[in-house]
Amino acid sequence: MPRVLALPGDGIGPEVMAEALEVLARVAPDVESERALIGGAAIDATGEPLPPDTLDRARECGVVLLGAVGGPRWDGQPQDKKPEAGLLGIRKALGLYANLRPATVVPALAASSPLRPEGVRGVDLVVVRELTGGLYYGQPRGRFESEGEAAARNTMVYRESEVRRIARVGFETAARRRGRLTNVHKANVLEVCAFWNEIVEDEARDHPGVSLDHQLVDSMAMVLLRDAAEFDTILCPNLFGDILSDEAAMLTGSLGMLPSASLGEAGRGLFEPVHGSAPDIAGRDRANPLAMILSVAMLLEHALERPEPAARVRAAVDRVLEAGHRTPDLATSGEDPVGTRAMGRLVREALA
Ligand code: NAD
Repeated sequence: MPRVLALPGDGIGPEVMAEALEVLARVAPDVESERALIGGAAIDATGEPLPPDTLDRARECGVVLLGAVGGPRWDGQPQDKKPEAGLLGIRKALGLYANLRPATVVPALAASSPLRPEGVRGVDLVVVRELTGGLYYGQPRGRFESEGEAAARNTMVYRESEVRRIARVGFETAARRRGRLTNVHKANVLEVCAFWNEIVEDEARDHPGVSLDHQLVDSMAMVLLRDAAEFDTILCPNLFGDILSDEAAMLTGSLGMLPSASLGEAGRGLFEPVHGSAPDIAGRDRANPLAMILSVAMLLEHALERPEPAARVRAAVDRVLEAGHRTPDLATSGEDPVGTRAMGRLVREALA
């Protein structure tokens, strides 16, 4: 029986998780979900943001659904005891090297985008970001002395195997979607990107059904605002993906709608909303549970390889929004919003 480890975490995490687990139980009743502590809730109970029991069970299950961690109560903790350290620890333990962040503009919500609705209509893209290499991890790094004065450096380095495995995730993701992969680089200046591009080109031979094009990162930042609907799957090294996935998220204008997946080898993955623990609205039945529910759809598709129930969940969310239901973050003036629990119930009803 497939198992999922649910880590509700802090703030609105437990509220949105409760709705997501009910959706999971409805579309995949054979999946066993169990709960464990992470983040501030784990610090309060055990003194550690990632207790050994949680880590052991995450390694055993391999598939984790996470709410959110953090909050002002734990801001004073030392760096390695902050709630966020729990999240970093779990990503590392599961070897999650590929981050997938879809950005879809639901027609009913096009007005929420900071861009003109006609500019974002039809946007349905996913950023595939390399998560464990590149500039954020390369050595040497840090402060040093150069020619008699203080200096600092970071190193953007990729090994062939690191590029190949993320390129494959990019091609496979594109193959499941509309078959277009855009590779983002800065090869006109950076040798590491020229190397990256060669390997991506080589992998393209194994994926003849996917059309590949390349974009310089600076020009990508512009065309993403102008022609976002043109893009399907966008493959990026760690640094560029960090920046462009946030830019892509803003196209949709609704933080409470964005799911994400971080994938490792052999079906391992962590699925979580992009938003944080929103302490300002926690415990008030005001959180939008849709990002968490759409994270369940990603889990079904990527970790359990069940595209059919994943599509059912997405279609149910679309139906609820098309019917005009809105949580407070999505409601415009004059609209009467529904709470977290009511939104979860509406999605479950729309599954039927
Ligand atoms: P946030 O995403 O928690 O909140 C930003 C704003 O968006 C807030 O006004 C919040 O009310 C709103 N919002 C977020 N999610 C929402 C939802 N589902 N429905 C309705 N409104 C929603 O970001 P923040 O305020 O910068 O951070 C709060 C805490 O969350 C911090 O401790 C931060 O470190 C942590 N955080 C955790 C994660 C994670 O667990 N992956 C990610 C980002 C931030």
